[in-house]
Amino acid sequence: MKQLTLAPLPYAYDALEPVISKQIMELHHDKHHAAYVNAYNAAIEKEKTRDVMRDISFNYNGAIMHDLFWQNMRPAQENNLPPEGMFADWEKIKKEFTNAAVTVEGSGWAVVWQVDGELVVGQLEKHNLLGLNGAKPVLVLDVWEHAYYPQYLNNRAAYVEAWWQVVNWEEVEKRIR
Ligand code: MN
Repeated sequence: MKQLTLAPLPYAYDALEPVISKQIMELHHDKHHAAYVNAYNAAIEKEKTRDVMRDISFNYNGAIMHDLFWQNMRPAQENNLPPEGMFADWEKIKKEFTNAAVTVEGSGWAVVWQVDGELVVGQLEKHNLLGLNGAKPVLVLDVWEHAYYPQYLNNRAAYVEAWWQVVNWEEVEKRIR
């Protein structure tokens, strides 16, 4: 297994303000994302016991999910809607995704998966549980407390609602193709 490297953010730390603060982005990328990369790189050097395999799954998926997350955001825009035709029923998907994000138990992610050409909403607990094998994540939202707590406190719903302004739909469209 190859070592992972921590790619820099594709924009400045303050690029997503006011939706996501510079402080959150610095901590989230430089400390949390970096920790998953480093822990994965350490784990793959070890004998593959059950605990080590669990560490590999958790940290590998943690690292990859953050790469996707940074890339599927960009500076805020008002009325930031997906391209016409991306979703058959956008309002339904938005409602399901918001519900998925708000109801993750503990730490996790809301995800739009592409499964057999269809876009479906799901969740991940931690970074790696409840996944759909063979499905491709095309839009991901980190709802771990480290992603919003310093700015939104316990109001995860407000974070999710504001987050739609920074979704990079062009990137999502590229993933779907
Ligand atoms: Mn995170």
